[in-house]
Amino acid sequence: DYISSKSTLIWEEIGEVDENYAPIHTYQVCRVMEQNQNNWLHTNWILTEGAQRVFIELKFTLRDCNSLPGGVGTCKETFNMYYYETNDRALKESRYIKIDTIAADESFTELDLGDRVMKLNTEVRDLGPLTRKGFYLAFQDLGACIALVSVRVFYKRCPFLVKSLAEFPGTIPGSEASQLVEVVGRCVNNSLPLYEPPRMHCSTEGEWLVPIGKCVCQPGFEEINGSCQVCKVGFYRSLLESLACSKCPPHSVARQTGATACSCEDGFYKIESDPPNMACTRPPSGPRNAISNVNETSVFLEWSIPMETGGRKDVRYNILCRRVLPDGRGLEECGPNVRFLPRRVGLSNTSVMVADLQSHTNYSFLLEAVNGVSELAKDHTKQYVTLNVTTNQAGTSHPDLLQSAAGLPTPTAITVNHYTHFVTTPFHFPDVRARTSAGYGAFSRRFEFQTSPYCEYIGGTQIGGATHDPLGGIASVSSIDARVCFFSAVKFPGVRTYIDPLTYEDPNQAVHEFAQEIDVSFISIERIIGAGEFGEVCSGPLRLPGKREIQVAIKTLKAGYTEQQRRDFLWEASIMGQFNHPNIIRLEGVVTKSKPVMIITEYMENGSLDTFLKKNDGQFTVIQLVGMLRGIASGMRYLSDMGYVHRDLAARNILVNSNLVCKVSDFGLSRVLEDDPEAAYTTRGGKIPIRWTAPEAIAYRKFTSASDVWSYGIVMWEVMSYGERPYWEMSNQDVIKAVEESYRLPGPMDCPEALYHLMMDCWQRERSNRPKFDEIVCLLDKLIRNPSSLKKLRSPFVTLHLCSSCGVENIVSYQTVGEWLDSIKMGRYTELFMEGGYSSLETVAQMTSEDLRRVGVNLAGHQKKIITSIQEMRVHMNNTNSAVNI
Ligand code: AMP
Repeated sequence: DYISSKSTLIWEEIGEVDENYAPIHTYQVCRVMEQNQNNWLHTNWILTEGAQRVFIELKFTLRDCNSLPGGVGTCKETFNMYYYETNDRALKESRYIKIDTIAADESFTELDLGDRVMKLNTEVRDLGPLTRKGFYLAFQDLGACIALVSVRVFYKRCPFLVKSLAEFPGTIPGSEASQLVEVVGRCVNNSLPLYEPPRMHCSTEGEWLVPIGKCVCQPGFEEINGSCQVCKVGFYRSLLESLACSKCPPHSVARQTGATACSCEDGFYKIESDPPNMACTRPPSGPRNAISNVNETSVFLEWSIPMETGGRKDVRYNILCRRVLPDGRGLEECGPNVRFLPRRVGLSNTSVMVADLQSHTNYSFLLEAVNGVSELAKDHTKQYVTLNVTTNQAGTSHPDLLQSAAGLPTPTAITVNHYTHFVTTPFHFPDVRARTSAGYGAFSRRFEFQTSPYCEYIGGTQIGGATHDPLGGIASVSSIDARVCFFSAVKFPGVRTYIDPLTYEDPNQAVHEFAQEIDVSFISIERIIGAGEFGEVCSGPLRLPGKREIQVAIKTLKAGYTEQQRRDFLWEASIMGQFNHPNIIRLEGVVTKSKPVMIITEYMENGSLDTFLKKNDGQFTVIQLVGMLRGIASGMRYLSDMGYVHRDLAARNILVNSNLVCKVSDFGLSRVLEDDPEAAYTTRGGKIPIRWTAPEAIAYRKFTSASDVWSYGIVMWEVMSYGERPYWEMSNQDVIKAVEESYRLPGPMDCPEALYHLMMDCWQRERSNRPKFDEIVCLLDKLIRNPSSLKKLRSPFVTLHLCSSCGVENIVSYQTVGEWLDSIKMGRYTELFMEGGYSSLETVAQMTSEDLRRVGVNLAGHQKKIITSIQEMRVHMNNTNSAVNI
């Protein structure tokens, strides 16, 4: 309905039938034989309804110009689509903005017409950001034969959704691709948010992503089929954690619907600390079988637990001691001089020692049993038993009694660091040894100290300082300060050694040891920036209270994960959290207390290094590239000092920020390799990114900092070649074989000699001959300080470098013009060179700029690149005196 033809009326409205003879309504134009066509068809005003990005789907047929009888003439096979945004219907035709030129995938010929085949094309374009109320679309014909069959204009929206008891309204996505619109959900009737309001994120594709938080039914209601239903009579629901209404526990009732708790039957009671699902209870009956044992002026009383505990486990006993006055004058309370061991009231054991009584005196003891609800049961008659005893002569008191009665050793006091604590037992600390990814080290000198229930800093205790054993890489322990906690781990502050999270029995403990828990309400998710193995990677601001707002990357763990996946996901945080270095991606914290589980790291505006370099091919100075390499080396030096072996160092695992600072990321041993699409299974079963990995690590899994240095050499090569794939399209097997046979990657185009030397050193077969990361940093610093050292370039014609130990240097291997052009990324011109007669490198070496233009290399940049390479080729040919073997 929207289509209307403009005044020229060249486009005709034609009713037709399709190949199935169904009627279709089309707009057609076919002025293929006339010069200077400019025929417009425009739509009516289309309301955006608030959409910021709309999609336009066109269905049309186009005539194949070649099939026209009588020559092609001025026939075109494309048309243009335009739009004009406006807040009212006023159309200013001069203001149309071009959306795209539309071409047909399939054009039809006379034959198709005869066969009644309709070659219908479908093209979709998107348009945005739109900011006005509506817009016009227009189609400009410049002399084609077109039938426009349909124009469908639509936008995507995230549909109304009820999830986790929260309603999310139908939402129009943001205008930019990958933007996320955060929507706060409304809890359905009789539900409330759990901890925080539920949130969802609407993507430009109209999909809901990254749910955060949820609603739960309020007390007195339960969730049934996505809504909250009231608890029936006799049922209750109190805690937010329990999902369904529960039947009232014994001796309690709920007389109305929607009960949040049940009330006790008469004679039964509950105290506040009783859980809601516990039965109502009553006071106990009296103690039974009471006996006494007199020893001089002490009496040992013993009894059995009551017949009826009232349904509770907290039965306690109280003793009332009364002296029988002579001559029937009645009873008198014993007074403060009599001692009760362990005490007089609130006894949990069924015995007590009463000491310091008067000699030769009659006493009457009342033994009472009480429990948690005795206080509430005022009208409940107390249940006693009475014991009458007579003491003997006075004796000496026994301090030992204290110990034997209570079963405890005598308290002693020790002084630790000026604080005095009472301790009950000396605590023998187990022998200490270090743990690293390489295993356990040697035991430390034995030591022993007494503990306090608090963490105390014990200065100068000789127990720490990890050193590396040159043979096995296993750490041993010597001299540092230690922080000692009662029954908890010993930490070694000041020793920067990586601790393998695997050494923690509970992986959750490892996460919280090294990563700060962040409340999800401090995070806003704004856009998706990547896809990780475990879920979307998003970005947005982190606003920690009292801290400056920063941009962060948010890795999420998608719903439906297993416990193992959660562990693997958080594994990375347990590692990252141990590092603190400007060239290592910084962990801000983790979100584990709410769902989805998230890892929050600093945000790196330019994403991963390989993609970044490919996007900016040839854009950086050598010094800038060396600066990036220096950063990566510095991060790796830190990791190797920490005893951490990365195993998957590659440009794709380096992130770049807006200042071109490179940071090492992607931690987590085997997990990382599982995720890495580059990792391939070796014959030994492990998964290894072959192209980046040192031969000894591929052959027998010998991963060390020296194998990281090999990978670093490959990263250098990736950087200097702007993200080229190492060994190009060679298969993994061929790469392994070539490296085994001592072939190495050639120096990238325009790579300074000094850098290529360093790469080659990193690729020494003997790993002890490779440089260490601190040497690499040192060398790169020297090069940066002395840029003229980077002037000498490596000829790209020297390829597949054989290492010098094999006695052969510089095998030259560009055999064909195609290979040469590919190596300088100009492969697209191969055919033109062939057609122009430049089919051998000898003829190419003679070419001038004029020759280049003649074969059809018209872009100035490309001409320059090719000419530079030809000049180098000439130099090389003169040097080697071998024009054939290039
Ligand atoms: P990963 O799962 O770590 O490989 O992350 C997947 C993708 O998300 C990466 O390739 C990056 O493009 C992007 N990404 C991950 N972390 C960050 C970050 N801290 N800053 C920017 N982009 C990131």
